[in-house]
Amino acid sequence: MSQQVWFVTGASSGFGEAFARYAIAQGHKVVVTARSLDKLAAIAAKAPDQVLAQPLDVTKAGDAEAAVKATLDRFGRIDVLINNAGFGVVGAVEETPMNELRAQMETNFFGAVAVIQATLPTFRAQRSGAIVNISSLGGQLSLPGFGAYSASKFALEGVSEALVAEMAPFGVKVLIVEPGSFRTNLAGGAMRHMPALDAYAETVGATRDFAHAMHDNQPGDPAKVAPAVAKALAADVTPLRLQLGADAVDMVRTHAQKLLADLEAWAPVALDTAL
Ligand code: NDP
Repeated sequence: MSQQVWFVTGASSGFGEAFARYAIAQGHKVVVTARSLDKLAAIAAKAPDQVLAQPLDVTKAGDAEAAVKATLDRFGRIDVLINNAGFGVVGAVEETPMNELRAQMETNFFGAVAVIQATLPTFRAQRSGAIVNISSLGGQLSLPGFGAYSASKFALEGVSEALVAEMAPFGVKVLIVEPGSFRTNLAGGAMRHMPALDAYAETVGATRDFAHAMHDNQPGDPAKVAPAVAKALAADVTPLRLQLGADAVDMVRTHAQKLLADLEAWAPVALDTAL
């Protein structure tokens, strides 16, 4: 299909904004969503005929359904969901109060699932479309200080993996995207740094320093993400996971090799457990 309808969460900044700009440039219709309509005014003004701006806080009950209804009223369908809204928490597990952990899960996991659930009836009825879940290289492995963030992305990946098989009979693709460090606002004001305990200086300290220093220094170009995702979606065999950036490719590869090495080394013990 040449002209599509894209629905983007977190479109006010970073990847989300870049996805919206890409879709507009391709001539698609685009529903841009974020918590504040003000932050969407510039992108909506860029192509009023193609763009619908809708308020959507992924943590607010009913917002996703209302945005989907507005989409169907205006454009009649959804071809590509870019499930992108999210933020990061930095802190050791012990340094992260439960309310912060829950807030991380509310946005990055439950929020993403709420948007998926709101769009699934449309995808099933259409018997076509694609759901793109923006995870992270931190959705495949974790590091000291990224426990809460990784938990939210691991959870999103778990749901995504089940969804691939659930949606296949309806002709709907599901793609997990695992970017490394890209030049967005993720590490700016919205990143939440937990109060540091001295006990974790040696383990989490490097992650804290990295998270502070990465803002405006990330190697990845957010404008190159949407074309890469579009290429994966257009492929006959869309991968389950798409890593983006040399850091993501290297770290996920090393992690996968270690996983396989551990599995092989411990297989005799693992297999010696039958009744
Ligand atoms: P930005 O901070 O630039 O953008 C985050 C977007 O998420 C904003 O548009 C923000 O909108 C939105 N958002 C945050 N909370 C909510 C909410 N409750 N409801 C709706 N929207 C919300 O960062 P990125 O573009 O980097 O982040 C996008 C995604 O990419 C995230 O899921 C992040 O985890 C992931 N990612 C980013 C990487 C990177 O290096 N940049 C690496 C790996 C993954 P607003 O605040 O205006 O409402």
